Amino acid sequence: CLAASCLGSGAGGVRDAIAGAIADRGLAGRVRLREVGCLRLCSEGPLVQVDSEGADPALYAKVDARLAPVIASAASGDPAEGIRLVDLGSPFFALQRPIVLENTGVVEPERIESSLAAGAYRSLHHALHELGPEGMIAEVTRSGLRGRGGAGYPTGLKWATVAKMPPGPKYVVCNADEGDPGAFMDRSVMESDPHRVLEGMAIAALAVGADRGYIYVRGEYPLAIARLDTAIRQARRLGLLGSMIFDSPFNFRVDLRIGAGAFVCGEETALMQSIEGRRGQPRPRPPYPAESGLWGCPTLINNVETFANIPAIIREGSDWFSAIGTEGSKGTKVFALAGKVRNSGLVEVPMGLPLRTIVDQIGGGAPEGSTTKAVQTGGPSGGCIPSGLFDTPVEYEALKALGSIMGSGGMIVMDQDDDMVGIARFFMKFCMDESCGKCVPCRAGTVQLYRMLDRIERGVAPAGELGRLEALCDLVKHASLCGLGQAAPNPVLSTLRFFRHEYESRLVSPD
Ligand code: SF4
Repeated sequence: CLAASCLGSGAGGVRDAIAGAIADRGLAGRVRLREVGCLRLCSEGPLVQVDSEGADPALYAKVDARLAPVIASAASGDPAEGIRLVDLGSPFFALQRPIVLENTGVVEPERIESSLAAGAYRSLHHALHELGPEGMIAEVTRSGLRGRGGAGYPTGLKWATVAKMPPGPKYVVCNADEGDPGAFMDRSVMESDPHRVLEGMAIAALAVGADRGYIYVRGEYPLAIARLDTAIRQARRLGLLGSMIFDSPFNFRVDLRIGAGAFVCGEETALMQSIEGRRGQPRPRPPYPAESGLWGCPTLINNVETFANIPAIIREGSDWFSAIGTEGSKGTKVFALAGKVRNSGLVEVPMGLPLRTIVDQIGGGAPEGSTTKAVQTGGPSGGCIPSGLFDTPVEYEALKALGSIMGSGGMIVMDQDDDMVGIARFFMKFCMDESCGKCVPCRAGTVQLYRMLDRIERGVAPAGELGRLEALCDLVKHASLCGLGQAAPNPVLSTLRFFRHEYESRLVSPD
């Protein structure tokens, strides 16, 4: 695996050592080294998988360069001794349902031939020659796919709105400004299977009548940027992007735009301002981007995971997709599972799976000596759900009812040592630092909320402070201009709801 997580734990050196061992042992004719993307079990990296003809794949964990000769021998059929084998039948893998991730860890992200062999751009060909724009929108609408960036807006409805706009310049934008602390789903998809995102965007462009697209990706993701750039060039060279795609009149040019580190640029109107070369600040809606987006033209914005679902929906059909998940939340969701859990990494599960299954079975539960206390979903816009409510199904409405949100897919597990007031203060500091300052309720309100939380945490806040805290949360939630401010109080409100005693026990007694 040469995605960022494994590279961070030394996979680059392991790759070089294995290449050297293959050459030294004269195995080049029998063994091929493939540089793939995320193999999902990030906490066990560097991961190396050996695929041999006629045998089950063998996934090795925590491989270091000294084990390269053993890996090279294993790939040529000898027994591998001294390396930890991961059980591919374990709940971590068996309970997942990869759709978005079906080719991550399978294709080589820097070789388009590898993606084409796995079926890349076949759905685009099918959409272009058989479905047509109305057929595509009908398929996406019937599938029940909802935006995976956080808000959960029906994707087909958004596509139909842009398609209905009068002919003229239209744009398709991929929101790849994944900024939630602890979230790395979109990064992994872009690093591991970039052609899937490009194909989803091209299908969307064909459906809505756009010929120009942008991927707005955060500057902190250099590997994703490099692989997307390579993928765009390769696809253009083969006539799969650019002019006269598949020798048809359909043209679609995609360019990258690199963010400069502002969390608020994940908000769609701020993102568009940034693409236009202006300061990334949100603007009031309406008008919505579907009517008036980039340079005042109709613009379709979806996030990475939403686009990555599209090729599979077009290939397998809407009935197949809508049979997965629950009534209101169709398909699967990718989560970045992290925190106090045995197995952390990239997880894709059918919607509706209980939180408990994700944390305790897929994640393997709390590490030795600790007890799971809560899970935080949705990053700074989400909330903390206590372990007593882990039977809650993972779906948009159920999480919202608990004061959290699905968000883009960050999932941080906490144990008995995690202090909920401290967690709420951490997320409020994040929002305070990232507030763009355009509207007063968020600009001033997040500072005041942060100071109140700080005083409570230090045990110097007076009795009665919780009432003031809740009142200010209510004001910031309802009076802020964009989603950043509107959702900033969520971590405070959810921890107040489920862990109020941790706040109360710190207040200064009136006596
Ligand atoms: Fe800027 Fe916050 Fe207002 Fe959004 S809510 S426009 S981030 S100040």
